[in-house]
Amino acid sequence: MKIHEYQAKEILRTFGVATPRGQVTDSPEEAGRIAKELGGRAVVKAQIHAGGRGKGGGVKLAKSPDEAVELGKKILGMQLVTHQTGPQGQKVKKILVEEALDIARELYLGITLDRAIGQPVMMVSKQGGMEIEVVAAKDPTAIVREPFDPAWGLQSYQARKLADALSLTGETHKKSIGFFIALAKAYVATDASLSEINPLLVTGAGDIIALDAKMNFDDNALFRHPNIKEYRDLDEEDALEVEASKFGLNYIKLDGNVGCMVNGAGLAMATMDIIQYAGGKPANFLDVGGGANEEQVKNAMRIILSDPNVKAVLINIFGGIMRCDIIATGVVNAIQEIGIKVPVVVRLEGTNVEEGKAILKSSGLAVIPANDMKDAAEKVIASLGKVA
Ligand code: ADP
Ligand code: MG
Repeated sequence: MKIHEYQAKEILRTFGVATPRGQVTDSPEEAGRIAKELGGRAVVKAQIHAGGRGKGGGVKLAKSPDEAVELGKKILGMQLVTHQTGPQGQKVKKILVEEALDIARELYLGITLDRAIGQPVMMVSKQGGMEIEVVAAKDPTAIVREPFDPAWGLQSYQARKLADALSLTGETHKKSIGFFIALAKAYVATDASLSEINPLLVTGAGDIIALDAKMNFDDNALFRHPNIKEYRDLDEEDALEVEASKFGLNYIKLDGNVGCMVNGAGLAMATMDIIQYAGGKPANFLDVGGGANEEQVKNAMRIILSDPNVKAVLINIFGGIMRCDIIATGVVNAIQEIGIKVPVVVRLEGTNVEEGKAILKSSGLAVIPANDMKDAAEKVIASLGKVA
């Protein structure tokens, strides 16, 4: 799960990570009031679940409270396009109004899970404020990594190593040690999967402050953090993915045009592979799960078909726990209820396969039966663009 910058800063503050003073609002007038409280000068920052806001015009300096009101009017409601939002952008519904800090250096600091070694890794770079992916591609040596044991946390000798790598000295070096250790603590305690401070600010006075903050969390651990779960903002998520999650379906939208309904994550991946092999592109990943009922299958079908990019559907079911007759009934009900305009290819195998096939056949619906996965993939590609 992703959260907004202002929410990440709220969490980090409770762990003693230094952040700028500021407040979130959805009103330009409030933005003016907050700026006044902060001493007049303030930075107005669009709150969306994507980075690159600065370049896209979503982070602006107000030199007075009146300017903060004007910027609030301009940024609230704008469709902010960044390299992470896609060309359609994301609508801004909240802004963070923050004290404008004096920038001496912009560094990079991030923690994520290193899957190869099975430990969190803290990463720093002198090249902060820009996309870390670009730094990594151009000059991987510019990023210094320090894996740490989550049971013990980041040790001070490790923090010192990272501070040295950033050429921090004196009081700033000292402050950075506390900052790094606090961030590592926050990462582990909240079951985060990413915690990124870009830029990590060194002020003219030598203070270390999180100018930006991004945190992602492991969904499977959210039950342990009801307060973090509260931060979920459905407006920032893909509408179909939110809808699918209500029915316990694992649905991820993709860019292609072949809608897929599959049971089991492994079979879903194999199905996407074979669609690509046959020359097509999947429009989604959809795992209806091992024990889906008719209602879930119907909703899965409805969700696939409500994606306008879907020009054909491939249903690929291996009935183990899941019975083929249940899938067939769900599919028939869905098609009868919604009506379909695109071809639907069905490959069923396993428990109650004959009953399933009979249900499809006797429904009189124009579904295209397939014998095996290869046959199914070829048939669905051949049917693309045709009308059901
Ligand atoms: P994004 O990464 O989405 O572009 P950031 O929060 O990193 O957003 O802000 C972009 C840039 O704006 C920063 O690199 C920094 O130069 C400037 N900035 C952001 N917040 C402040 C602030 N409180 N005071 C001064 N400058 C800021
Ligand atoms: Mg940033």
